[in-house]
Amino acid sequence: MSERFFISETDLRGLTADLLDGGTEVIAPVATDICQSPSAVAATACTLDGSKVEIDYRQLTSADDLDLSRGLPQLSLKEFFLPEHEPLCRWRQKGTTVQVFEVPTEFAPRVVLAAKPCDAAALAVVDKVMNWDYEDELWNGRRAATTVINLACQVIDDSCFCTAVGAAPDDVKGADGLLTPVEGGYVYEPATDKGRALVEDFAARFSADVPADTIGGQADDERAAARARVADNLEIDADSVRDWIEANFEDPLLTHLAMRCNGCGACTGVCPTCHCFDIVDEQEGVGHGTRRRLWDTCQAPTFTLHASGHNPRDTQHVRYRQRINHKFSIYPLRFGEVLCTGCGRCTRVCHAGQDLVEILEAIDIAARRPRDAEPAEAAS
Ligand code: SF4
Ligand code: SF4
Repeated sequence: MSERFFISETDLRGLTADLLDGGTEVIAPVATDICQSPSAVAATACTLDGSKVEIDYRQLTSADDLDLSRGLPQLSLKEFFLPEHEPLCRWRQKGTTVQVFEVPTEFAPRVVLAAKPCDAAALAVVDKVMNWDYEDELWNGRRAATTVINLACQVIDDSCFCTAVGAAPDDVKGADGLLTPVEGGYVYEPATDKGRALVEDFAARFSADVPADTIGGQADDERAAARARVADNLEIDADSVRDWIEANFEDPLLTHLAMRCNGCGACTGVCPTCHCFDIVDEQEGVGHGTRRRLWDTCQAPTFTLHASGHNPRDTQHVRYRQRINHKFSIYPLRFGEVLCTGCGRCTRVCHAGQDLVEILEAIDIAARRPRDAEPAEAAS
């Protein structure tokens, strides 16, 4: 990225309003105080002091709702590209004749504003499996219609580890541009034609006069500090982890590391890269219905249950081991990169205390042990 523009805080909100006024859907982080929610379920999570703010990506109805000041939204962008459930086709049967009605696979242009870099990177990672043995037209249609603008991370906690899996808090992987907060606004760097089109279409909102002290100064310093802060959480050799898991699939360490998991599946739901889905036919009346896909989880016992009653993954530690194996060995061996962008959501959401930072650290130590031991053995 070589081009840089400045956009003030006011103009970023103005740009959001321009997009909404022009009929473009805008998805962005929005904060809600769940204690004010009419939902009884939300109210149960309300803290005793009567205020608990949560942040989520939402379709904006007003530029005023945009909230760029907080950390990672609870859920990733996954649901905007692979909805929790959606129709694949509709069917109608009369006698032996079956009519199939396709669903649209082209979508209106939309913009994701202030995406977290780990969430945008996840889209690029999942692109690979969505275009592997078949081309997923619904996924690809939404990807083509969407301009994704990242916001460099400033709020980082102990569960973030994107730098250990090839991403970064100021990455543009999977995105079309990057905003970096500076005094009075943001430095904007387009990364693709879609990212550049935003500047061309809303030229009055951007300035080519980037404040001098942000180049090689404030913006870059803060981005470097954020990368260092994340790297403090975890550093692994992902290739060694991959190879160790492949060669030591039955090692008791993997069983030990899985033991706290009770199979609730929350980790797969919040994960931006978990993409497994089930397909069901819903009969909606005599002779007609909808074929629908819906998220599934490899942590559920029924995920691999055969019609015969046999289940090749019949215990929870085997199912959890599979999640680690798929993300850090199977996927990189097939597609060249891990199926994880280090967002840390699975750790934060796990009520049983499964901590992916600790787990990867333990595997990395196991993977390094023979190598570290070699010089000592050679010397003796
Ligand atoms: S790791 Fe935690 S969140 Fe994931 S299935 Fe197990 S108990 Fe649930
Ligand atoms: S496995 Fe965990 S840390 Fe990795 S992308 Fe999924 S939720 Fe984020």
